[in-house]
Amino acid sequence: MNKVNWNFNNTYFNLSGLFKEDIKPIPVRKPELIIFNKALASDLNLDFSMINEKELSKIFSGNVLPEGSNSIAQAYAGHQFGHFTMLGDGRAVLIGEHTTKSNKKYDIQFKGSGKTTFSRNGDGRAALGPMLREYIISEAMNALNIPTTRSLAVVKTGEDVQRERTLQGSILTRVASSHIRVGTFQYIAARQKEDELKTLLDYTIDRHYPEIKDSNNKALDLINLLIDRQCNLVVNWMRVGFIHGVMNTDNMAISGETIDYGPCAFMDTYDPKTVFSSIDQTGRYAYCNQPVITKWNLARFAECLIPLIDKDQEKAIKIATETINSFEKKYEEKWMNMMRDKLGLFGLDDKDKFLILDLLTWMHEKKADYTNTFCNLMNLDPKKNELYNDKDFINWTKRWEDRSSKNNGTSKKSLKLMRSNNPLFIPRNHKIEQALEAAEQNDLKPFNKILEILKRPYDEQARKDDYQSPSISDKKYQTFCGT
Ligand code: AMP
Ligand code: MG
Repeated sequence: MNKVNWNFNNTYFNLSGLFKEDIKPIPVRKPELIIFNKALASDLNLDFSMINEKELSKIFSGNVLPEGSNSIAQAYAGHQFGHFTMLGDGRAVLIGEHTTKSNKKYDIQFKGSGKTTFSRNGDGRAALGPMLREYIISEAMNALNIPTTRSLAVVKTGEDVQRERTLQGSILTRVASSHIRVGTFQYIAARQKEDELKTLLDYTIDRHYPEIKDSNNKALDLINLLIDRQCNLVVNWMRVGFIHGVMNTDNMAISGETIDYGPCAFMDTYDPKTVFSSIDQTGRYAYCNQPVITKWNLARFAECLIPLIDKDQEKAIKIATETINSFEKKYEEKWMNMMRDKLGLFGLDDKDKFLILDLLTWMHEKKADYTNTFCNLMNLDPKKNELYNDKDFINWTKRWEDRSSKNNGTSKKSLKLMRSNNPLFIPRNHKIEQALEAAEQNDLKPFNKILEILKRPYDEQARKDDYQSPSISDKKYQTFCGT
């Protein structure tokens, strides 16, 4: 197996037993490789060229573990839809931390690998559709230049999983900078032992934020750094119309990567209240609520670290509150700059906010497609939609053109900025569903085709209009968790 070049150094495994359960993936009956991400393997300096497909199937099902692996299920807690719960990897195992030649460390995790101590009532398994869904959306997010966990492989297990109907069992190999979550801190903080909290803090800083390892107030600095990372992340989600769908604190990574592609989906028609998840009845995780929830989750994170911010609890709470309250201003600034980039605007202008909000209001009123409206502004509207002949829109574009010419903006420079911020291709819900349905019937062609398109979301691609259109069906699109 060494020919693959796995280079494991399993630091989380070396933490005390309270952080995890040592457990192996439960072997599966008949593993069959469905998809393997060669480009990612190569980025990780892994070489599978000497391994045949049968062996690959055994590796990515966990039936054969690589040398140097120490597999564990991680313990964590989390606020799910606002309610605190003890969780943990109920259907995943971390098989090891792989280090690349450039000294970057990645968790290699199997999702759907069988029951663990943390499985509660779950079967520890996952179904093919949702695992392929995570594969394609995470890879699309990466191509959109948005921090994310990656997907290395999907196998079928040859076993059924029972959901509303019987589905094919499957395992996804997820690659992440780490799987430390806000919920990991919540789990440790709930035990109220300062030395354990310090261990997790130091571990996290060592792994993700070594620049603050000698700071005087590591806890506070970490909160500030996480505010920055998560603020950038949610601004990026807003940029492309991504709706995570289940922003529970256990699904917020300390690395700042997008994690856990359960019920996520991309918005077509611009409506800030868009929600796709079937269980999100109140719209807690709607498109427009994502920044508010990010702040709420960051507040839960800061709460965990109170004992390490200052010995005087009252003082610590005051500092943490002020720090968390810096979120809105940061977000507003980053969001405005992101929208300026989408509109190809340089510099700042007092009226920018009105210009931006007026466009969004127009899109909302006219039920315009979010992605394609920006395509129209770049003269790349796939369908030459007559919606854009609307007089209010034309009046708005006059104001926009006027503003574009200011602050050294040339149309060439503006267009370049817009082209690198406005995707032409996003995972369109109807196309993703079609591809997943075909994959369940053993036809991977549509899946592979859409995957190829989504690898180059900012590029013009000939005869791909169909992949740029929102669904024509009126049926409300619904997504599901934990399948
Ligand atoms: P998620 O909604 O995917 O973030 O999962 C929330 C929690 O439920 C995590 O602790 C998961 O490990 C656990 N979980 C989800 N599906 C299953 C399953 N089929 N079996 C066991 N645990 C599960
Ligand atoms: Mg999760």
